[in-house]
Amino acid sequence: MNYSDFEIWFVTGAQLLYGGDAVVAVDAHSAAMVEGLNQSGKLPLKVIYKGTVNSSAEIEAAFKNAGHDKRCAGVITWMHTFSPAKMWIKGLQNYNKPLLHLHTQFNKEIPWSKIDMDFMNLNQSAHGDREFGHIVSRMRRNRKVVVGHWSDEKVQERIGVWMRVCVAWADAQDMILVRFGDNMNQVAVTDGDRLEAELRLGYHVDYYGIGDLAEVQKTVTEAETDALVAEYESLYTFADNCKKGAKDYGQVRNAARIELALRRFLQEKGAKAFTTNFNALHDLDQLPGLACQRLMAEGYGFGAEGDWKTAALVRTFWVMAQGLPGGTSFLEDYTYHFKGEKSAILQAHMLEVSPEITNRKPRLEVHPLGIGGKADPARLVFTAHAGPGLAATIVDMGNRFRMIVNHVDVIEPEAPLPKLPVASALWIPQPNLEIGAAAWILAGGTHHTAFSYALNNEFLEDYAEIAGIELVTIDKNTTISGFKSELKLNEVYYLLNK
Ligand code: MN
Repeated sequence: MNYSDFEIWFVTGAQLLYGGDAVVAVDAHSAAMVEGLNQSGKLPLKVIYKGTVNSSAEIEAAFKNAGHDKRCAGVITWMHTFSPAKMWIKGLQNYNKPLLHLHTQFNKEIPWSKIDMDFMNLNQSAHGDREFGHIVSRMRRNRKVVVGHWSDEKVQERIGVWMRVCVAWADAQDMILVRFGDNMNQVAVTDGDRLEAELRLGYHVDYYGIGDLAEVQKTVTEAETDALVAEYESLYTFADNCKKGAKDYGQVRNAARIELALRRFLQEKGAKAFTTNFNALHDLDQLPGLACQRLMAEGYGFGAEGDWKTAALVRTFWVMAQGLPGGTSFLEDYTYHFKGEKSAILQAHMLEVSPEITNRKPRLEVHPLGIGGKADPARLVFTAHAGPGLAATIVDMGNRFRMIVNHVDVIEPEAPLPKLPVASALWIPQPNLEIGAAAWILAGGTHHTAFSYALNNEFLEDYAEIAGIELVTIDKNTTISGFKSELKLNEVYYLLNK
């Protein structure tokens, strides 16, 4: 996955009514604007100016080309002059990638002493963009609208967020997700319609038996294992029982073999995400914990117990966050700390939490696992650092996918947790545990989440718009009565808009 594989196209709308001079000026202004955006340092993708479109045929050709070009992750439109919007119908009908409408104008301020009607006719995005906006709304096309002068940092940052989401969207359109075993038996919230997910969200979920991975494990050499264990030794603090010569050193080596096999398997399948199931391990000696932790930090989406929706979302978050401070991880709501307004949730999993969410050196430990009936697995143990973040999930409501987001504040534990043998994060859900957890439960949210320190709500709004899925956000402004109303209104909306 590489941001340099993608670009964003910029198409300016105009018409020939205002004469040749105006066409030349519009083109020059657009080129200067795109140059300014590219020079801003705020955009993760290059913007490619694709010229001014003046007719239905030109617009249709531009959008068809954008749709076919693998490098094009989305199109930005802007109406410099008035562009009669019936001209945009055929183009929009032929386009299904992300769309951003940049509502800006070339000049920043009105030139009070010089402004005349020629200036007015050349610089009329204020009404040209309204005409364009109407047809997009009339066609019920989802898009992002960004308003402000193109040189404004805030405008550039909002375009930058959308670009990151465009890359994650493109990444998901050819995502293969490998599922070792099935969903954990009887579990409802982690399951769903995989066919609908492929139609709606793009990614493809394949099944493999864990025996297929065990076969690959047989091809792992001692030399590869030596090298990987040496890498562990350079990165992590080893617990005494894990060191060379100690009782559980062999378990660390077995964990390394599983990691090598898993990475090789995923690479051979071209997969970007995977799930495991502690109930279906067969020829693996231990639950893959360390391997899942490290592969997640490399960008593989992960979901436990067959949770393919969360695995795909973890991958998508990781792609969106590339190059931004903060990390991404799979997490699970585990146990509560009730303490008034400081009430918090301890997040963990059996083993699989990404070391991307800590700024401390993880400890490599081996302990028995109470369930699954296998040998003692290796894992990285750490506590996530304090800071704001968000946890999100996608659930299948039967007639639609619903994304639920809760903004959270990760806090330091009140005291060390010397007996907790897994990685963890302690957080207070916004606006507090009482409302945050109640809203999450009313929305039907999972116990598994994709967590990020790097993303804010705008990323998820952009994603939900592009995907055309429901989004409900729980944050500091949430009230239960308001949230219930939102869920009920959404129910009606999605019954009417199938
Ligand atoms: Mn779980």
